[in-house]
Amino acid sequence: MILVLKENYDKKQLENLTAWFREKNLEPHLTEGAHTTILGLIGDTSKLDIDMLESMDIVESAKRIQEPFKSANRKFHPEDTVIEIGDVKIGGGNFAVIAGPCSVESEEQLCTIAEQVKAAGAGLLRGGAFKPRTSPYAFQGLRSEGIDLLLKAKKKTGLPIVTEIMDLSHLSLFDEVDVIQVGARNMQNFELLKELGHTNKPILLKRGLSSTLQELLMSAEYIMAGGNEKVILCERGIRTFETATRNTLDISAVPLLRQLTHLPVVVDPSHATGISKLVKPMSVAAAAAGADGLMIEVHNDPSRALCDGAQSLTPEQFSDVKKAVDAVLPFASR
Ligand code: PEP
Ligand code: MN
Repeated sequence: MILVLKENYDKKQLENLTAWFREKNLEPHLTEGAHTTILGLIGDTSKLDIDMLESMDIVESAKRIQEPFKSANRKFHPEDTVIEIGDVKIGGGNFAVIAGPCSVESEEQLCTIAEQVKAAGAGLLRGGAFKPRTSPYAFQGLRSEGIDLLLKAKKKTGLPIVTEIMDLSHLSLFDEVDVIQVGARNMQNFELLKELGHTNKPILLKRGLSSTLQELLMSAEYIMAGGNEKVILCERGIRTFETATRNTLDISAVPLLRQLTHLPVVVDPSHATGISKLVKPMSVAAAAAGADGLMIEVHNDPSRALCDGAQSLTPEQFSDVKKAVDAVLPFASR
């Protein structure tokens, strides 16, 4: 970290400040230029509050020269992380496709879709059991029964399952779930992230509705700091002024995250656009941009879906998207 000091700073205040840094096991280095004086800090500055430092009388500005995320940082871990889920690998050149309905609705619905997405080449089955809905009057999911149905579909098809956790108190219901999803609305539920850091399950962490990439990486850091290194990041569109799509897919997040972190990055073109016709072009774009995988909503009868029908593909459309993605993967920018 670097602190630029104000012109004519008070020497006594600087002495107090450097003593305080030393107490925190930081090494202060003072460089006095003709016009500017810089105080460099060496050591773990992650616990320092930059706003607090900038509010000090003698400090003009403070700047971190190292990203605050350590475990997720590619600088400290140059190799891609590869996460294994059953027979499926994700990351390090292994592309994984997660597909399934927005919500688990019934055994018949889920098992039909599971068989169909498997036949089309999906590696993992998704399905929401606990649903974060904007309206409390909308379908909230089948909850624990939904998880039971996912486990039945897993048994039938062999596909590992991905489902969202909304509250810590439900964690024991996720014992047999293969990948625990943290939804956009919970990306900064730090107590939840900390607890998931103590599990050894892969976590699919979705980017918050208005979160920066750094905030996403810091949330991954929360999970990793607890010892769980199996984090998959998911770009699922962000809030912008545009209303023509449900969200705005930030494709540039893919190559940027891959530069900043060794963790696998997947794209969810369904929630990013909200429009089923846009899922194919955005899936192809994500694969071409270097994503490690996709998460796509598929429903056997989208017009009757209890949730997110407008963005759901039919199994036939999903199969077509999968082929288009496979065709572009050899040319992906990696
Ligand atoms: C979902 O994947 O079912 C979901 C609710 O997505 P998000 O958290 O990205 O809105
Ligand atoms: Mn959905």
